[in-house]
Amino acid sequence: MSTPVIEISGVKKIYRMGETEVFALRGVDLTVNAGELLAVMGSSGSGKSTLMNILGCLDIPTAGSYVLDGTRVDGMSRNDLADLRNRKLGFVFQGFNLLPRTSAVENVELPLLYDRTGRFTDTRALAVAALERVGLGARLDHQPSELSGGQQQRVAIARALVTQPTLLLADEPTGNLDSKTSIEVMALFQALNAQGITVIIVTHEPDIAQYAHRVIDVRDGRIMRDHAVAAPRSAADDLQALDAGADVPAPDATREAA
Ligand code: ADP
Ligand code: MG
Repeated sequence: MSTPVIEISGVKKIYRMGETEVFALRGVDLTVNAGELLAVMGSSGSGKSTLMNILGCLDIPTAGSYVLDGTRVDGMSRNDLADLRNRKLGFVFQGFNLLPRTSAVENVELPLLYDRTGRFTDTRALAVAALERVGLGARLDHQPSELSGGQQQRVAIARALVTQPTLLLADEPTGNLDSKTSIEVMALFQALNAQGITVIIVTHEPDIAQYAHRVIDVRDGRIMRDHAVAAPRSAADDLQALDAGADVPAPDATREAA
């Protein structure tokens, strides 16, 4: 039986800007089960980030209900929200958001040092293990400026993983990466998902969404389409084919031709 990690119902978000109201979400219902790899697609301004910020307990909906991993979120205090976020969620952003002049291992260790539950004792060892998990065990002491974009995003993914979240939320995680590096990052998300982590990725790129198992299309603050992908592409296979120089219909080929 599948267990819902996310259950939202009738979620609306209205931003008030002086006299005007912006209807960012106009009533969204969504259930995401444990183990899903979901892509949220939609053009710029459609409400993807607003939805993500609500799912991530970074923002509060104007109306509607939200249950995260069995916990009722709407109506919670800011402090309780922050605790829930720290216990359940890992975030990955388009711009990596790493601290400059700070080593990879220190960046990954940071959420453990800020954790108030006292769950984590050997923080350094946990940070090292998370970096090894994303293939950066040999780059522990590198600062962001000494790493490629793809490596920086993998450090950010390790930082999201280190607290052992139930759910990874990634908002345009490949938006700043070239096409091959984007596939590498998607291969990592697919591998983590195969290990049992539920992953939600926002993207406006169809090439990226085809690595998900389910795609929802958001338009004007509503879910317009919600469909399972029968046979998602394997990012690892696509990488192998690219490395072998094979003439495959690789996602990056179509993008660069566009
Ligand atoms: P997307 O991530 O799909 O590009 P967003 O969720 O960022 O879309 O934005 C949805 C709509 O809400 C847009 O019209 C945007 O201008 C508006 N919006 C987003 N954040 C704010 C905010 N903090 N204040 C006012 N309007 C906002
Ligand atoms: Mg956005």
